[in-house]
Order: sequence, then C-alpha cells, then structure tokens
Amino acid sequence: MRPFVYERAGTADDALALHDGDARYLGGGTNLVDLMRLGVELPGRLVDVAHLPLDRIETGGDGGLVIGATVRNSDLAADPSVRASHPVLAEAVLAGASGQIRNLATVGGNLLQRTRCPYFQNAGKPCNKRAPGSGCPAYEGEHHNLAILGHSTACVATHPSDMAVALAALDARVRVRRRSGGERPVPLGDFYRLPGDDPSRDTTLEPGDLVTAVEVPPVGMPSRYRKVRERASFAFALVSVAAALDVADGEVRDCRIALGGVAHMPWRARRAEEVLRGLPANEESYIRAAEAELELAEPLRDNAYKVPLATNLIARTLSELGSGERAGGDGRAPGPSDGGLS
Ligand SMILES: Cc1cc2nc3c(=O)[nH]c(=O)nc-3n(C[C@H](O)[C@H](O)[C@H](O)COP(=O)(O)OP(=O)(O)OC[C@H]3O[C@@H](n4cnc5c(N)ncnc54)[C@H](O)[C@@H]3O)c2cc1C
Ligand code: SF4
Repeated sequence: MRPFVYERAGTADDALALHDGDARYLGGGTNLVDLMRLGVELPGRLVDVAHLPLDRIETGGDGGLVIGATVRNSDLAADPSVRASHPVLAEAVLAGASGQIRNLATVGGNLLQRTRCPYFQNAGKPCNKRAPGSGCPAYEGEHHNLAILGHSTACVATHPSDMAVALAALDARVRVRRRSGGERPVPLGDFYRLPGDDPSRDTTLEPGDLVTAVEVPPVGMPSRYRKVRERASFAFALVSVAAALDVADGEVRDCRIALGGVAHMPWRARRAEEVLRGLPANEESYIRAAEAELELAEPLRDNAYKVPLATNLIARTLSELGSGERAGGDGRAPGPSDGGLS
C-alpha cells in the first residue's frame, strides 16, 4: 500500500479545502480501504468525512426526505419515517452487504462505491476503468454478472449499489458541494453516467466534489425492492428491481421502475413505465411492460440469462405491489433483524 496522509475534516468547507488532486474522501472506508489494499486506489491523502455534521434524516412536511451524506446505512434502513414513507429505500439498503458493513457505511460512500467487476479489482489485469486505454478483458472474458443494458465495447461493468437503484426509482437528487464553488442538487440520472468511450468516470462529479445529502421527493404510492443474488446475503445483485405502483379502478395510474445489476448505472426503466400507464393492473400488463424494456438489452455471451430474470422480476414485483402483498407481511418494510430479505 502506498503511504498516505490522513486528515479528519470537521466541516464541509474543511473537507473541500483539504482535498488536493491526490486525495480521496473517506466515508466508512468499507469499499475504499479494500481497494487501497488491492492497489486499485492509491491516494496520497485521505480526507475523513465520516464525522461531518451531515448525519441527519429530515422529513419534510410534504413527505419528502433529506438524508445527510454521513448517515450510516443501518440508521437509514431502521429509520421509522423512511420505512413508513419510502419502504423501497429501506428494503434496498437492507438487501446490501451485511449488518456490520451497514453499521459503518455512509450514504455518500454507498452512492460512490466502485464496480465489483473482477478485472477492475485486480490491479494486475488490464481494465479501461482503472487504467484508461488498457482494454476491457471482461467483454470477451468473465462477464456472467455484468451489464446487458447501456454498455459499450470499452466497459460492460455494472453499478453495485442497491440503495442507488431505489433512489433512481424515487427521482432522488444528490446535493453536491463543488470544489469550484457552490452547492447544487443533481438528479440521480445526471449524477451517474454510462461508460461510452470513457469508463474511467462512474459519475459526473469533478475531483474533490463532496456529496452532502440526498433529497428524496414524496413517492405517494406503495413501493418495494426485490433482489436476486447468488446467495441469500453478502452478495451483489444479479438483477434487482425497485418499483412503485399506483392502481385506481383496476388500472395502472402511475408507476416507477428501476433496475440494478444490469447496467453501469441504476437503470430507470422508462419504456416499461410508459407502456404500463393506463393498462389493466394485471400480470399480462406487467409482463408486457417488462418485455418492452428488455427489448433494449444487448446481452453478452454469458449473461443472456439476465433478460428473462429481469423480465420476471419486474412482473413479480409489480404483481406483489398490485395485490397489496408486502415485504414484511405486515405492511412495513422489513426491519434490520430481517436480514435483507430478497
Ligand atoms: C463483503 C461486502 C458485500 C457488500 N455487498 C453489498 C451489496 O450487496 N449491495 C450494496 O449496495 N453494497 C454492498 N457492499 C458495499 C457497501 O455498501 C459499500 O462498501 C459501502 O456502502 C460504501 O460506503 P462507505 O461509507 O464505507 O464508503 P467508502 O469506502 O468510505 O467510500 C467509497 C467511495 O465514496 C467516496 N466518498 C465517500 N463519501 C463521500 C462524500 N461524502 N462525497 C464524495 N465522495 C465520497 C470515497 O472517496 C470512495 O471513492 C458490500 C461491501 C462488502 C465489503
Ligand atoms: S467491464 Fe469495465 S471495469 Fe470491467 S474490465 Fe471492462 S473496463 Fe474494466
């Protein structure tokens, strides 16, 4: 590991001032420190932002939320107002990692965790994301868990965060303090980016930009998160679905659908949403909407299984929402002891 300087920031202004080009912000360290051990990240300075006074969850009068960047994942998932108003968000956070990791991990760090592509995590291999221009061995190599939507020949990685998939469905905005000055909310769809010919950048952030909070508007309809993974805990999504559904008089009045485990960023399924609005709220409509979205997929040699998996998971999640079936069986999001229900 390269020697580095450690600094703890007391305020957001301190953090911005302490960040030189060679620095990284440190949240809970559950991803960054692993990558430093692997030689993938080699910062000369760590600016610890985990103790900034950004650890509150504010509930607005309209039912929206403002979640500070240093709120721990466990606290977010256990917050009674979040569980009541935005169950999809609490469920998504609980579906990620383990209790111990969620106790350390911050909201800002969760949003900015890096891909789990095996070549990215192996500093001895070529990888356009880690070493621009070196190639993408995953394209022809090990890619069974990688992207089917929005990828390029330069990179077929997926974004690993469960929480970000729920935030994509909820039209959340990320508050960013710019090193160049000012703070502004960035819609989640503009925060993340597809790989194109420059996969080295996961987001539209500039070096040194600090995430300070996430704004989540009221959702106003039942919502939930479903995740399929290779084992019941401690595993990233093969495919996940965050969905919200509003049914009136047997018809779909409104819906939100986002997918995880399928693209370089949380994938908002806008085509499926457009197809579904106004259709009868039944299984046939849900499958039709899901198939419309998955027509956009361009699976690789070994990951075509994700197309029917995503289609069925969208349809099942919508069916559960349409029938009023809920994750915890009691109308609430599952609690921390429920262990991240799939
Ligand atoms: C075994 C294991 C299993 C896991 N399984 C899952 C899973 O199933 N689903 C899932 O979603 N996640 C999973 N995770 C990932 C986990 O959720 C992340 O490691 C965690 O959320 C990162 O948060 P952190 O605060 O520790 O971030 P850090 O590791 O501290 O930082 C991550 C990145 O964010 C940047 N950063 C941190 N805070 C800020 C800020 N305020 N502004 C700007 N940049 C910032 C850092 O510089 C770094 O680049 C797993 C992790 C492990 C180790
Ligand atoms: S998929 Fe992306 S992260 Fe993985 S090897 Fe290719 S360029 Fe690197």
